[in-house]
Amino acid sequence: MIDTYRHKGLRKKLVEDIRSKGIRDEDVLAAIEKIPRHLFLDSSFVEFAYQDKPFPIGSGQTISQPYTVAFQTELLEVKKGDKVLEIGTGSGYQACVLIEMGARVFSVERHHALFVRTKELLARLQYSPRLFYGDGYKGLPAFEPFDKVLVTAAAPTIPEALKQQLKPGGMLVVPVGKGQTQTMKRLTKKEEDIFIEEDFGYFRFVPMLHDKAR
Ligand code: SAH
Repeated sequence: MIDTYRHKGLRKKLVEDIRSKGIRDEDVLAAIEKIPRHLFLDSSFVEFAYQDKPFPIGSGQTISQPYTVAFQTELLEVKKGDKVLEIGTGSGYQACVLIEMGARVFSVERHHALFVRTKELLARLQYSPRLFYGDGYKGLPAFEPFDKVLVTAAAPTIPEALKQQLKPGGMLVVPVGKGQTQTMKRLTKKEEDIFIEEDFGYFRFVPMLHDKAR
């Protein structure tokens, strides 16, 4: 768990890179500057950790590209104390970004091996989101309602349960689409069953799958 000056220097460059691509939220940029992303990848890939690229994390999954993490987080307009549900824990990196921004994070992962590995890693890094092994299509009914919900896998359509589990005034950010690329959508819940829907361009995510996997 080593974080050197070289890593810190590479992170500063990464932050300038994603700033130049249009990310403006200083809290998001500060979180990315702080979190040692190289520790979320296998140690043999340290040189890739601070390029603005997605990367395989095992179990056929990927850690999202830093720009995409920043973009989704910015759309979510995270405020200190927000109760945030993330679908697709993956490496845990996005959950740590949300924690650095002061959110209380609940995150669900359907892949058991990944869930176990990430739980151990985050404990070692002393980040403590509430992590759940389960099917994100169902949300977390025992812990609703949430201020914000963030889906980090491609949903074929907007999952109903996640809309329901939002507080009035809450926001859901989700990449939606059945093909190779998805449209980034933000839903703002005005009141029960009334949502404003906005689109924010095209992205590419691994698919959101049904049910749990070993
Ligand atoms: N947020 C992650 C990147 C996630 S990649 C990070 O910061 O690293 C998408 C993740 O969603 C994968 O780990 C995949 O296993 C998970 N996933 C896919 N379908 C899911 C579902 N129905 N419920 C929960 N997790 C799901």
